[in-house]
Amino acid sequence: MKKVGLTTTVPVEVLFAAGVIPVDLNNIFVTSGKALEYIEYSEVEGFPRNLCAWIKGLYATALLEDIDMVVGVTEGDCSNTKALIEVWQSKGKEVIPFGFPQNKRYETMKEEINHLMDYFSVDLQAVEKVKEKLYPIRQRIKYLDELTWKTNQATGFENHLWQVSCSDFNGNPITFLEDLENTIKEIEKRPATSSKEIRLGYMGVPPIIEDLYTLVEGNGGRIVYNEVQRAFTMAKEPIDTDIYQMYLNFTYPYDLERRLNEIKHAIEERQLDGIIHYTQSFCYRGIEDILVKQKIIIPVLTIEGDLPGRADARTKLRLESFMDMLQDLKE
Ligand code: SF4
Repeated sequence: MKKVGLTTTVPVEVLFAAGVIPVDLNNIFVTSGKALEYIEYSEVEGFPRNLCAWIKGLYATALLEDIDMVVGVTEGDCSNTKALIEVWQSKGKEVIPFGFPQNKRYETMKEEINHLMDYFSVDLQAVEKVKEKLYPIRQRIKYLDELTWKTNQATGFENHLWQVSCSDFNGNPITFLEDLENTIKEIEKRPATSSKEIRLGYMGVPPIIEDLYTLVEGNGGRIVYNEVQRAFTMAKEPIDTDIYQMYLNFTYPYDLERRLNEIKHAIEERQLDGIIHYTQSFCYRGIEDILVKQKIIIPVLTIEGDLPGRADARTKLRLESFMDMLQDLKE
């Protein structure tokens, strides 16, 4: 079966309806064990040193892993993707552009998804059918999220990993659900607790720093809310929301205001003590930090990551001081 790389979450229902295998390039890049090699490969090809590592990773992953073609998100994700697509195309890689309409109009979203459906020769009925099949899986992910923030049984990393994997359901929703059920069974065996630890929310693009969640736990905290990753699950959508509206309700590709409203709700509901705002070096989204600091009323620590790997000493120290400060406030 054809493997279709994704630069971020797209209407994956179209791809499953077409019988191809969606592959989130971000997930392959960070778990490949070759992330630094991939970045170096892209730099040798001419990608600037002062460009986000994710972009360089995606470029190399699509060319060096077993990927037949790519769906590249040109609106609502990354300002670098348009240029990235042109370079891929110059190397002979087939790329289909997809845009989340920034005017948030239903008709425009319809055009975008219909264009994708035409390309893959599938109709709306088939896509809606896949959406219904994915619904119970998305609900089980929602349950795993509750095992994180309601009963404190699932770890922040488990929460991150399973939610972020909803961009492509690891290429196969059936085996994804089997693995998910096994993980849930394991998590349910742990005792439910009323957490006395510092409760944190994580916002921003998924971290390139691999030990962030363990570091938080090592400093007496728990991440009980992963903002973007949760948005990827679409689990809050009722089953009868149509595919066009569902992807209009997806908060990640649109304005920060809507995301901030979700975060404010989570602060109340999940009793968060603080927020980690993750930004990626050389990413335009770093500018959002100005508004995040203005509009979030609980303490915010901004952490910037650059290359894949473990946190550097400065990040560890800043995180430790932040947790100490939150502990003092809590007491
Ligand atoms: S972190 Fe920012 S610059 Fe990098 S791929 Fe994501 S949106 Fe683009």
